[in-house]
Amino acid sequence: MRLAIESSEGLSIAVSRISRVPFLLVALDFDGTLAPISDDPWSPRALPGSQLAIEVLSHRTDTEVAVISGRALAALDRVVDFPERVRLVGSHGGELQGIEPARLDSAEEELLEEIRGVLKAIATEFSGAEVEIKPAGTALHTRMLRSPEATEAARKSALARVGELDPQQRVTHRYGKEILEFTLRPADKGGAIQILRARSRADSVLFIGDDVTDEDGFAVLTEGDLGVKVGSGETSAEFRIEDPSEVEELLSALVRERSAFTRNP
Ligand SMILES: [Mg+2]
Repeated sequence: MRLAIESSEGLSIAVSRISRVPFLLVALDFDGTLAPISDDPWSPRALPGSQLAIEVLSHRTDTEVAVISGRALAALDRVVDFPERVRLVGSHGGELQGIEPARLDSAEEELLEEIRGVLKAIATEFSGAEVEIKPAGTALHTRMLRSPEATEAARKSALARVGELDPQQRVTHRYGKEILEFTLRPADKGGAIQILRARSRADSVLFIGDDVTDEDGFAVLTEGDLGVKVGSGETSAEFRIEDPSEVEELLSALVRERSAFTRNP
């Protein structure tokens, strides 16, 4: 069988090239990238090939593996089972393991509570909508809504009502796939990658992601890095693959090439 990444000559060359850098940072999104998307937020698991590749890569001293998710860190931790050396990053970079997140003051806490109240009211109005609580924000999930029109109406209502609560615009919002998020401590995956890159002194970064919020990650990649978008949608990533099973193939190829290039140091 021809592997998907072999059908793209450019991508297999790029994987070979990046497997040869002295120190590599492998940054991976979770939902829709390592794990297929599911309606149940607690059922996704990394596909076995990706799980194994991450385990092998994380034991190398010339490679750092990070999983950067939009999920709250605690919610990410619940669905993954990686070696301790794999760095988990939640809330799009707002929560880095081992770094104290910026605290909210009491006025911000109060505003956040009000916003959560409004979103919970919307979730009862629009059947299927769900509210996710994050440390410095909250999100409205619309995956289970019955129609695109209902999704649009729920989003509009959320934006309008949060806007009323927050005339000073202390809260920022952002869209992902079937999610509208509000936060008082905006962070993005680009910032997270830059922090991890600086800390690990990586020579190159491989970043793979599927969602619009992963575009912030692709945006900070420079020459020598490799960005791979999973699935459809506009992207600034250099390459595109279809789905999480192709992520398995790509990561397995990276493991093979990196082991062939140098013995596990
Ligand atoms: Mg994703």
